[in-house]
This record gives sequence, structure tokens and C-alpha cells, in this order.
Amino acid sequence: MRHGNLFVISGPSGAGKGTLVARLVEAVPDAWVSVSATTRAPREGERDGVQYYFLSEEEFLADAERDGFLEWARYAGNCYGTPRASVEEAMAAGRQVILEIDVQGAFQVRNKMPDARLVFIEPPSLEVLEQRLRGRGTESDDVVRERMAAAEVELSRKMEYDIRLVNDDLDEATRALVAYVNEQAERPRG
Ligand code: 5GP
Repeated sequence: MRHGNLFVISGPSGAGKGTLVARLVEAVPDAWVSVSATTRAPREGERDGVQYYFLSEEEFLADAERDGFLEWARYAGNCYGTPRASVEEAMAAGRQVILEIDVQGAFQVRNKMPDARLVFIEPPSLEVLEQRLRGRGTESDDVVRERMAAAEVELSRKMEYDIRLVNDDLDEATRALVAYVNEQAERPRG
């Protein structure tokens, strides 16, 4: 018997969270990934309602004012938030709900929902992280610097997460993440 759960996946930009979450969804049929809202400009190939809901700052803050977000935070100069209603629906349907959000958002979620499971994805090293961010080719030098500074802050909080997975070998990290989600979903409840 599986139960619904809320999983928060955080880790520095470039740690490979997106790839891991995409693989998790392929491997776990009852997983559901929340689509966040953001004020950041779309990167090439990103589509509204798929990777994010792209909002103006005015629209975003109006939604926040209406309590439309389960959590929200500013990250590297932009606002990011988890739409509350769709997460609540997926939770009620007993899904394995996945939020890919930053550390500030993760602790807001833990405060509101103490049963949430917090997973931290670590890059093998800061050097590898910087190479991956530059290799993406979509970020300017300033953005890379800003994201590397944010990464150090994020890494300083990794011990507060329920588990940490080092994304060195993608297959290995995927196996560990899928195993953790399935184990939590099948954990007996009192
Ligand atoms: P990116 O701009 O690279 O897509 O995301 C930047 C950071 O914002 C990442 O750490 C990502 O996990 C985080 N993020 C994405 N959506 C949300 C959200 O809804 N809430 C919060 N707090 N962070 C988010």
C-alpha cells in the first residue's frame, strides 16, 4: 500500500536536480512534479506552463498577496513560488508530490508541513558545479557568479535535509533517489 508524500528537492543550480527529477518521474508512476511560478525570463526552449509559469513581478506579488503560494522566495534577483492549489490537489490524490525548490522555500515547506521529506542534491565539487553552469552556455558571467555565491549558501545548509545525494554518477544518483521515494511511499503509517 502506497501513501502520498511531499518531497522537496533542493541543491545548487547546476547540481543536476532537473535531470534527476525527470528520471524520477519516468521511474515512479505516481510521482507528480509541481510547476513553479517565476519572474525570471524564460531560457531558450522553455515554455510557459511547462518548465515554469512565467509571470511579471506585479502578477507574482499579487498571487503571493492572495496566499496563492505554498512557499515563495527570491533567488538571484528573481521571485520563485510553488502554486498552492495544484499541490494540494495532488496531495489529496495520494501522489508522490515533488517540489524542486531552493533552500529558503524548503524550510518554509518544512515549517508548514513537517512530514515533508527534504532531499539535497550535491554536486561532486564547486569546480564541477561551475563547469556545468558555464557549459550550459545560457548564463552570462554575472549570472554564473551570482549562482556560485548562492550555491555556497545552499551547501552550508545541506545537513538540515533528511538525505543528501551526491550527483557524481547520474545513474547511481537516480537509483538512490527512486529508492528513497519508493521507500517513503511504502512506509507503514500508524
Ligand atoms: P532556475 O532559475 O535555475 O530555474 O532556478 C533557480 C533556483 O530556484 C533553483 O534552485 C530552483 O530549485 C529554485 N526554484 C524553482 N522553483 C522554485 C519555487 O517554486 N520556489 C522556490 N523557493 N525556489 C524555486
